[in-house]
Amino acid sequence: MADRAGHSPREAPPQWLSHSRAYRELPQALLLGDSGRVYSGGGLFLHAFYRAIRAEPVGKAQKFMPRKIVVIGGGIAGLSAALSAARRGFAVTLLEKNAFLGGKLHERRIGPYRFDAGPSLITFTHFFEAALGAGKLTFLKVEPHTHYFFADGLSLTLFHEAERQAEELRTKLGAQAVQNWSRYLAYAKRLYERAAPVFLELPIHHLRTLVKSPLFWKHLPYLPLIDGYRSMHAAAEKILAYPPLVQIADRYATFVGGNPYRLPATFHLISWVENGLGNHHVKGGLYQIVRAFEQALGAAGVTIYTETPALRIQVRKAPPHLVETPQGPLEADALIIATDHTYAQQNLLGRKLQRLPKQSLSGLVFLWGVRGSSPFGHHNILFSSNYAEEFQAIQEGRLDYDPTVYVCISARTDPADAPQGCENWFVLLNVPPLGDRWKAEDTASFRERAIQRIRKVWPEFGPERIEVEEVITPAHWAALHNSTGGSLYGMAPEGIWAAFRRPANRDPLIRGIYYAGGTVHPGGGLPLSLRSGEIAVRLAEQDFPT
Ligand SMILES: Cc1cc2nc3c(=O)[nH]c(=O)nc-3n(C[C@H](O)[C@H](O)[C@H](O)COP(=O)(O)OP(=O)(O)OC[C@H]3O[C@@H](n4cnc5c(N)ncnc54)[C@H](O)[C@@H]3O)c2cc1C
Repeated sequence: MADRAGHSPREAPPQWLSHSRAYRELPQALLLGDSGRVYSGGGLFLHAFYRAIRAEPVGKAQKFMPRKIVVIGGGIAGLSAALSAARRGFAVTLLEKNAFLGGKLHERRIGPYRFDAGPSLITFTHFFEAALGAGKLTFLKVEPHTHYFFADGLSLTLFHEAERQAEELRTKLGAQAVQNWSRYLAYAKRLYERAAPVFLELPIHHLRTLVKSPLFWKHLPYLPLIDGYRSMHAAAEKILAYPPLVQIADRYATFVGGNPYRLPATFHLISWVENGLGNHHVKGGLYQIVRAFEQALGAAGVTIYTETPALRIQVRKAPPHLVETPQGPLEADALIIATDHTYAQQNLLGRKLQRLPKQSLSGLVFLWGVRGSSPFGHHNILFSSNYAEEFQAIQEGRLDYDPTVYVCISARTDPADAPQGCENWFVLLNVPPLGDRWKAEDTASFRERAIQRIRKVWPEFGPERIEVEEVITPAHWAALHNSTGGSLYGMAPEGIWAAFRRPANRDPLIRGIYYAGGTVHPGGGLPLSLRSGEIAVRLAEQDFPT
């Protein structure tokens, strides 16, 4: 596994960025005893119903002065929660365990190459503009937005522009495929318009808040029409018929870490988000988002402690609660936990889970500086020969499958990301969330399979073209960000109640504790994680009016 210069890819958690902050002294105080609660589940329907009726503030809202919020976790959700809370008049402290902010949204610079080392594409740009102000980031629409390569040699390119899309499908698959695709996009748009406003804007587990919202009443008649009873795959087969188009549509399940054979068809709305609303890159790299948040948080007066993990939360009968850190405890009227939800339940709140929620996909990432000029565009999917078998294997935690390979080359849009004559490849494979059970030989084996898959499209490719390399495994995601099993999106979204089964943004039992992030409502991905931070703050504001 050594590169041309004899270097081995790094297996130890990389020392990501260098802009660590000095510790500041935290105030000392006595700590209280642990509350040690038991967390229980239940049947799906009962569970959703229980959440709906219990997930209201415990006790009456009281006025506290000053209202202090501590945000735990400096990923996109924590950054968004901290900014939103500061703007609503709370005194905000943010704790991040790592030396850098951004969580999974990070970048790597290796020699002359720059890589987006986590998320690689942006949707819902208006969420970012609303949070940071217009013009703080430059969004570049990627067109064509994705190049698909199938196991049988077919390739298809997806465009935002309808005319170019029709031409591509007509040439490669025929006139009927053009019609089917346009019918599919109209269907995805309808799902988006019916479901997205309620699921993205409102805290759906909080009945009292929900019924007060005119948005909820406006969309209520459409909610039975969001195609929640069949799987994404079944809907795609019915509407699209052409296997390559079905495989493309199925892939949108992976945007939320899901399995298209188990996820309700409602999730085809994601397809509209990419094809209709747009797939974007951020000029200078996606980490510009974190830099813009850092600036805004500084201006809003948020106190940030990096390299400061929250160790435990000491729950009192009523707020303020205490957050234990290596430097001493911090008191908070409201606590927004923006870490992996399962990790937080077990490790921060000391709850005993009756069973560990099944986790969504993890990812194996190779960052490769590649010499030469490949036939690839900015976003490329090299499909495996048997998608159903790939998801089945991942579902069962097996590693013996032919993986689909995603290659992102941001230098196609941002040429400064790679030296001339070379390309910066972010290569991602879907793998099971095995956490620290992931082994070096698993990495080696998948690396070989990825190279073989790439060679089917670009026969001149081989390890000798890889000039620099770094690897990020499920074990790294677990260790770096406390993601359970290295899962990228928390609990696996499955079945008709998928959206309701996601953890709520307000703790059902403890007043003053809220949740944000890709592992809770409304779901994974940067824009939704950002929204979750804002939703959590809105709930805190209801309970602690400023
Ligand atoms: C490889 C990959 C590709 C992806 N691709 C895309 C994409 O293209 N587009 C997209 O929109 N999304 C994508 N995603 C998903 C997206 O990155 C996540 O959904 C989102 O970043 C989650 O943000 P978060 O703030 O909820 O969690 P995280 O980013 O995990 O942040 C949680 C933070 O909490 C910190 N923390 C944990 N425990 C503690 C503690 N005890 N005390 C203090 N701090 C703590 C962690 O260090 C971390 O910084 C991708 C994710 C990955 C990994």
